[in-house]
Amino acid sequence: MWDTRTTHSNVSGRTATTVKRDRYLDLNSLLVQKCNGNCVDCDKPRPTWASVNLGIFICTECAGIHRSLGTHITFVQSTKMDKWKDEWFENCRVIGNGVGRAYYEHSLPKDFIRPRAVPVGGDCLRAQEASDLKAFIRNKYIFVFTYAFLSKKMFETQFRITKS
Ligand SMILES: [Zn+2]
Repeated sequence: MWDTRTTHSNVSGRTATTVKRDRYLDLNSLLVQKCNGNCVDCDKPRPTWASVNLGIFICTECAGIHRSLGTHITFVQSTKMDKWKDEWFENCRVIGNGVGRAYYEHSLPKDFIRPRAVPVGGDCLRAQEASDLKAFIRNKYIFVFTYAFLSKKMFETQFRITKS
C-alpha cells in the first residue's frame, strides 16, 4: 500500500517538473531568436519582459511604460517567471517582435528614429528620452491605426525627432 502511494507521488512530481522545465526551455528558444533579441519598442538588447497579450518582448524600462497603459491594452509578465500560461507562450511564439513591429509600426516612416531610454542612475531615466519613449509606446499601441493618417512631417513634429 505505501509503496504504491509513494510511486504514484514520485511519478506525479516528475511529470510536473518536466512540464515546468520544458516551458522554460520553450520560452528561452523564443528569446534566442534574432527577432526577439532586442526590445520591440526601444531596441535595448536582451528583453526580460513580455506583453503576453500582444505577444512581444520588451525591456524593463518599456515594461514600466506598458504597465501604465493598463492591462486591457498590454498585459506585462516577466520572462523569468516560470508559471507561464500556454496562451501567453502561444501569443509570443506566433507573434514575437518581428511580426509585432511589422504590424504596429507598418505606417511609420522608414527613416524614423526609434526613441530610447537613457538611464541616469537607479530606476530613473533622462526626462526628455523617457517622455519621447512613453509617447511613442502610447501612440504605437493605443492609436496604431492613427499612424496610417499621420504624415511623416506630423510624426517628426510629434516626437521632436531631429537628425544629428
Ligand atoms: Zn525597451
